[in-house]
Amino acid sequence: MIERIARPDEVRRWPGSIPVSHRYTPGVAGQAFLETLRDRGVILGSRCDRCRYTYVPARLFCERCFAELAADVEVGPAGVLRSFAIGFVGVEGEPLESPLTLGLVQLDGADACLLHLVLDHSDEPLEIGRRVEVVVKPAGERTGSILDIEGFRPVEG
Ligand SMILES: [Zn+2]
Repeated sequence: MIERIARPDEVRRWPGSIPVSHRYTPGVAGQAFLETLRDRGVILGSRCDRCRYTYVPARLFCERCFAELAADVEVGPAGVLRSFAIGFVGVEGEPLESPLTLGLVQLDGADACLLHLVLDHSDEPLEIGRRVEVVVKPAGERTGSILDIEGFRPVEG
């Protein structure tokens, strides 16, 4: 018999963890995106001409019409902050020493937004619509990771 749970705080539970690990590959377009970021410090997207939509990061097919795409469009390095959130706790619920700002940025030439840190060291409040630019690590320090991007920095204009 299935009992309806009326008070979730009274449910019996056993604390535990399941040891599961994952390893993902970036795929063909993701590989091109990461290698271009590493080698040239450039952000690559993919354009679907049929849908008139440019994806970032680059991808192998259009999510709207399933057309085959190529990682062949350079976007940014500047763009517009479309949304942001400020985090005060980490993924495990631990308090952070200093809050982190995550931003959704629509880079110039792109339709999709890229999520990354916002490097905002000023006392000026951050606003949606603000112009930002990508900050990439120096050439010798890039490894082909999304963390080769340090984040987005607000710029004038
Ligand atoms: Zn399409």
